[in-house]
Amino acid sequence: MSDTIFGRIASGEIPADLVYKDEDVVAFRDINPQAPTHLLVIPRKPIPTLDAAKPEDTELLGKLLLVAAQVAREAGIAERGYRTVINCNAEAGQTVFHLHLHVLGGRPMQWPPG
Ligand code: AMP
Repeated sequence: MSDTIFGRIASGEIPADLVYKDEDVVAFRDINPQAPTHLLVIPRKPIPTLDAAKPEDTELLGKLLLVAAQVAREAGIAERGYRTVINCNAEAGQTVFHLHLHVLGGRPMQWPPG
């Protein structure tokens, strides 16, 4: 599929602490959590960045958000509040070039982010 680490997680080639999977989307715990709950939601399709998403990805992008909301509810962080983040390209801090949505919660958040 894809040669990024997230592509290999999506294909099952390498393990992750999965919290959700279906035919389009996989969600798992971040290996270096920045909050008490820190989940990553990824498409199986290897879209490298949000900037690379195409009109034909519209439904998939919507599904990523709905899965993010679902896993946040299931993790028990929805009622108090959580943050979703997509880092796009290097200056924003993207390090893995397979589109992913961070879901962070379980502590108060600051604004603006660093
Ligand atoms: P970003 O900086 O937005 O590209 O986020 C990449 C995220 O992936 C970071 O928060 C890393 O801690 C996380 N990460 C990297 N490798 C793994 C892995 N094997 N399993 C889970 N999370 C990972």
